[in-house]
Amino acid sequence: MAILFMSTHAGDAEDYLPLLKGHLPDQDIRVWPDAVGDPADIEIAVIAVPAPGVLAGLPNLKAVLSLWAGVDSLLGDPTFPRHIPLARMVDPLLGVDMTHFAIHWVLHFHRGLHRYAALQGRAEWHPVAYPEAAERRVGIMGLGVLGSDAALKLASLGFAVAGWDALAKSLAGVETFAGAGRLSDFLKRTEILVVLLPLTPETRGIVNAETLAALPRGAFLISLARGGHIIEADLLAALDSGHLSMALLDAFRHEPLKADHPFWHHPKVIVTPHVASHTTPRTAAAEIAVDVRRLLSGGMPRHLVDVTRGY
Ligand code: NAP
Repeated sequence: MAILFMSTHAGDAEDYLPLLKGHLPDQDIRVWPDAVGDPADIEIAVIAVPAPGVLAGLPNLKAVLSLWAGVDSLLGDPTFPRHIPLARMVDPLLGVDMTHFAIHWVLHFHRGLHRYAALQGRAEWHPVAYPEAAERRVGIMGLGVLGSDAALKLASLGFAVAGWDALAKSLAGVETFAGAGRLSDFLKRTEILVVLLPLTPETRGIVNAETLAALPRGAFLISLARGGHIIEADLLAALDSGHLSMALLDAFRHEPLKADHPFWHHPKVIVTPHVASHTTPRTAAAEIAVDVRRLLSGGMPRHLVDVTRGY
C-alpha cells in the first residue's frame, strides 16, 4: 500500500512531503511524477492540482483526498475516476482567511472606501456618508463551511445578514433563504452580495443579467468562490449601467486573468489574484493524516463529495 502525492503546482511537494511524512512516518509516500513506482501499489491519492488522466491509471486506488476545498476542476476532468470516494479539504485556517477577506471587502464597500482614491486624486476633502451597520443588508450565497462562518461573523459585527443556499439552514442572527424559489427574495433585500457557492452545473453562471437585476440599484458584488459563477458580459453591463456600484472579483474563469481582460482596467472592478484564502500546508497535512488513518483502519474520509451534486 502506498500514498501518492500529486500536484502540478511548483513547490507543493516540497511544502507537503516533510509534513505528511512527519504525521505518517510508517507510510510509503510517493511523489508524482518522478517517484510513482508501480501504479498498482497506490491506494490513496493526495492531490492539489492533478495532471489529467493520472488517477485513472491507478488500478487499486481506494480514495482521493483533495488539498483544495473546491473540487470543480477535478470533476470537470472527464478522466477523473468518479466511482472512487473523493474528500475535499476542510481546513480551519481556510475559513479564518476567507472570513477575514469577506469582512474586509464588506467594510470597504459599506464605508465607501472605494471612493477615496479618486477624491484624493482631485485633492477633494469629502467624507462619504454610510448607513448604520444594522441597516446594511449583506447577503451570502452559499452557507457551507466558508459561507456560514462569514455570515455569522458579519452578523456579529452588526450587519443585517442573510444567506441563501440549497437546503434550509438555521444560523443565529442570520436570515436564511433556501432553494431556487427564494433566490429572488434573497437578492431583492441584498445590498452587498458575497458569492461563496461551489461551482457546479447548477451554480455555473448564477450571477447573470437576471440575478443582478434582482439586486437593488447601487448594490455591490464580492465574488470569492469561482469565476464560472459569473456571466462576465452581464456583470460588465450591470456595472456600466450603474445598476451595480462596484465588484470585487477574486476568482476567474481563466487564471491567471489575461492582460487584455476588461476587468483589469474597469473603474468599478477590483481584481485580486485568487488570494481570498488558501490551504495552509501545516494544518492541511494534519487534516490529510486524519483521513489517511481513517482509511487505513477501514473507515471513510470525512468531508466526502457528492459527485452527482458536484460538492
Ligand atoms: P461547502 O461547505 O461545500 O458549501 C457549499 C454551500 O453551497 C452549501 O451550503 C450548499 O448548500 C450550497 N449550494 C451548493 N449548490 C447550491 C445550489 N445549487 N443552490 C443553492 N445553494 C447551493 O463549500 P465551502 O467549503 O463553503 O466552499 C465554497 C467554495 O469556495 C468552494 O467550492 C470553492 O470554490 C471556493 N473557495 C474559494 C477560495 C478562494 O481563495 N477564492 C478558497 C477556498 C474555497 P446545501 O448545504 O444546502 O447543499
